[in-house]
Amino acid sequence: MTHELGHTIGFRHTNWDDLGEPETLFGLFHIEGTPEGNDPHSIMNGGNATSGFSGLSYYDKVALRALYPW
Ligand SMILES: [Zn+2]
Repeated sequence: MTHELGHTIGFRHTNWDDLGEPETLFGLFHIEGTPEGNDPHSIMNGGNATSGFSGLSYYDKVALRALYPW
């Protein structure tokens, strides 16, 4: 559920390339301070729907603060 909420606030899959999703499908904007490639600990990795929630990764938090500073 947290993963889906991530989509609603503008995040796409961090492993979009591994999933074969086109770069231009939803737009792609790299967030400074996050990896250019996959973040294996991100809640925004697609295909992990059956995994339990283990918290936001470090880079999930970097991305969240970049898009929604508080
Ligand atoms: Zn997804």
